[in-house]
Amino acid sequence: MAETDRERRVIDEVTKGLIIGGSVRDATDGRTFGVEDPSTGELLCDVADASPEDGMAALDAAAAAQPSWAATAPRERGEILRRAFELVTERADEIALLMTLEMGKPLAESKAEITYAAEFFRWFSEETVRIAGEWKVNATGSGRVLVMRQPIGPCLLITPWNFPLAMGTRKIGPAIAAGCTMVIKPAGLTPLTILKLADILAEAGLPDGVLNVVTTSSTGKVMEPLIRDGRIRKLSFTGSTEVGRRLIEQSAEQVLKTSMELGGNAPFVVCADADVDEAVAGAMLAKMRNIGEACTAANRFYVHADIAEEFTKKLTERMGDMRVGRGTEEGVEVGPLVEADQRDKVAELVDDAVQKGAVVRTGGEVPSGAGYFYPPTVLADVPTSARLAKEEIFGPVAPIFTFTEDDDAIRAANDTEFGLVSYLYTRDLSRAVRLSERLEAGMVGLNQGMVSNAGAPFGGWKQSGLGREGGSVGIEEYLEIKYVAMTVE
Ligand code: NAP
Repeated sequence: MAETDRERRVIDEVTKGLIIGGSVRDATDGRTFGVEDPSTGELLCDVADASPEDGMAALDAAAAAQPSWAATAPRERGEILRRAFELVTERADEIALLMTLEMGKPLAESKAEITYAAEFFRWFSEETVRIAGEWKVNATGSGRVLVMRQPIGPCLLITPWNFPLAMGTRKIGPAIAAGCTMVIKPAGLTPLTILKLADILAEAGLPDGVLNVVTTSSTGKVMEPLIRDGRIRKLSFTGSTEVGRRLIEQSAEQVLKTSMELGGNAPFVVCADADVDEAVAGAMLAKMRNIGEACTAANRFYVHADIAEEFTKKLTERMGDMRVGRGTEEGVEVGPLVEADQRDKVAELVDDAVQKGAVVRTGGEVPSGAGYFYPPTVLADVPTSARLAKEEIFGPVAPIFTFTEDDDAIRAANDTEFGLVSYLYTRDLSRAVRLSERLEAGMVGLNQGMVSNAGAPFGGWKQSGLGREGGSVGIEEYLEIKYVAMTVE
């Protein structure tokens, strides 16, 4: 049970049913599934567990609403997004508490996510009225070319648990701006935040049927028929590369336009000339934001041998000082991991590295007691054979490798099938440009430990995904291009 009256009230106020065509319904067979508090392992509440028929009903509603929504004036769509931005911002405390309860991160981090998430609504409210076309005389002078951009049609949006709100607004914002209707399926571990957001969007004036929310524990069975149904015209997915790959295969049948925001394995390169204190501050952000449960989390630290001990010592002190506890408690900086499996995987990766010769400078032990906690951990002298050099850790663990030549650092940084983000610390401008250009990633944090920004094109290279979210290209993912050829006598 949630611990205080305020927690209970925040949970009680959330819609627990499916939101289809503007109505809240139970699942057809009345089934529900539980949502846990990861800091205690206890049940917070139950939500509707959609069947494949419910999923199809959500698609029916999205398809029915598509023509009138596409015809809605851009200014009106933009104003709905703007109102939603304001409502989310006004209710940040309440949403943050809900998010912390279901996901575990400290309240301050939930609030930071809400600010970031709301920005996508503000950004796309401004983009709505700037969907432009083109008019030109063709090369022979005898014709005209009229290029227009139109909403692609009903979208299926699938989001993960690590940023329960932002991964939703990053998709919902541009879909609304473009004039698309949608079915969204939030992660089974954290469905409450998106259910709350759906209520806010309705209050902001979003018409019935534009946003339909399906929560389910039979994810594959409910999602696959939608992906294979010709009415869905766009799939936007954020999650693991493994699931993303499967969804790309399913999308091939209808030749769906897909956006895939997948896994990461970010290198964090600290050159010999870097400001060590700034690099440590950036490392704390790149590693510990969201308890390390971020696709952008620094996964592998490559530090020049001349400064490796100073960097390791300072990072160890900062990591060792962090307060671990329930995310609702004052002063807590590190909450629990989201579930037992996630914690076990992190512990397994650390144990593997230690068996292969890594030295634990802080952390490294699963604490006893309830909840899925894992302490901030720094590992030095990590051999390249350790699994965590290749696998996404998704937890508060910083493995440190050393190098002496920039070329070796870049080669090691790029030696992964992922390419979401890389971090680079150097005070030499030429080196910064040269090395940034060589890093195989969609984003580079240059002397900074965070790249997320609603106004920038977020996305990865290689197996980190396809497409971009945010920035001026974000809306393109939800638009189709049409050109009209005209003869002019
Ligand atoms: P996940 O297991 O791939 O799940 C993500 C979403 O996909 C959830 O809603 C999940 O539903 C759903 N899903 C699972 N199996 C499915 C299937 N067969 N068909 C359709 N949907 C399915 O990933 P996660 O553990 O939630 O999230 C962590 C991963 O996301 C990490 O790899 C991280 O790097 C990545 N991520 C990437 C970005 C980015 O922008 N690149 C951002 C955040 C996270 P259930 O919850 O019901 O299983």
